[in-house]
Amino acid sequence: MMAEALLSIDEVSVRFGGVVALDGVSLNVKQGSIHAVIGPNGAGKSTLINAVTGLAAINSGSVRFLGQRIDGSAPHAINRRGIARTFQNTELFGEMTVLENVMIGADRHLAGGLLSSALHFPGYRRTERAVFEEAKRLLGVVGLSDDIDTAAAALPFGKQRRLEIARALATQPKLLLLDEPAAGLRSAEVSALNDVLISLRTKLGLTILVIDHVMALVMAISDRIAVLNFGRKIAEGTPTEVRNSPEVIEAYLGE
Ligand code: ADP
Ligand code: MG
Repeated sequence: MMAEALLSIDEVSVRFGGVVALDGVSLNVKQGSIHAVIGPNGAGKSTLINAVTGLAAINSGSVRFLGQRIDGSAPHAINRRGIARTFQNTELFGEMTVLENVMIGADRHLAGGLLSSALHFPGYRRTERAVFEEAKRLLGVVGLSDDIDTAAAALPFGKQRRLEIARALATQPKLLLLDEPAAGLRSAEVSALNDVLISLRTKLGLTILVIDHVMALVMAISDRIAVLNFGRKIAEGTPTEVRNSPEVIEAYLGE
C-alpha cells in the first residue's frame, strides 16, 4: 500500500543556459518520513531544493505539495503553504542574538499572515509575547535553550546550523528542506544534528528532505535515500540498498 506523498516531484527538468541541472527527476516524499538526496558536487541537489521552494524556475515537469501544484508560485507563497528551508551557506544575522534570529523568522511569517488572520478572526493578533514564547520553544527543540542571548556569530558552527533550523521552523512548516546541514561539521556536531532531525520527526511530526554530499549523516537517519548524478536520479532505496548499489559506488568513485 502506497501512503500519500506529501511532496511529489514529477519529471522535473531545470536548465541554466546550456547546463542541464536537473533532467527529468521524480521524487515522492512521504508524510512523516526523513528522505535524503545525496550526490557529488554539481549533481543538482541544491537546484532540486530551489525548484521546490520557487527559487529556480522549472522548464518541464511538476511539483505538487499536498496534492496541489506549487511550481510557478513565488517563494513566499510556497513558504506560506508549509515548506521551509535552510541554505547551503549560513544566512544568519550574526550580530543579533539567537532568540532574535528565530523571532525574526516567526515575525516575517506573521506579517504575511496578519491580513488573512484578521479576515477569519476579527481582532485576532498574535502578540510579541507569543512570538517570544514560540521562539524559545523552538530553540529548546534544537537544543539551544542555553544560548538564547548569545550573538549568532559567536556560536560554534554546529549550533549555527541548528539555529538556522529553528528559524526555518518559526514559519510553522509541514515540510523542512535542509541543504547540506552537516557540511563542515565535526562528528560530535553531526550526531547532535542527527538527534535534532529525529526529534523533529517524532515530536513535531515534521517531514524532512535533507541533502548531503556524503552518506554519513543521512545513512543513520533516513527512511529513503535518492542519489543524483549529473542532474539525474540514478538510484533510490533504503540506506542499505543505496550503499550497495553499483551505480552509486561508481558515481562516487568517479568524482
Ligand atoms: P549541487 O548542489 O548538487 O552541488 P547544484 O544544484 O548547485 O549542484 O548545481 C547543478 C548544476 O547547475 C551545476 O553545474 C551548477 O553549476 C549549475 N547551476 C546551479 N545553479 C545555477 C545558476 N543559478 N546559474 C547557472 N548555473 C547553475
Ligand atoms: Mg548544493
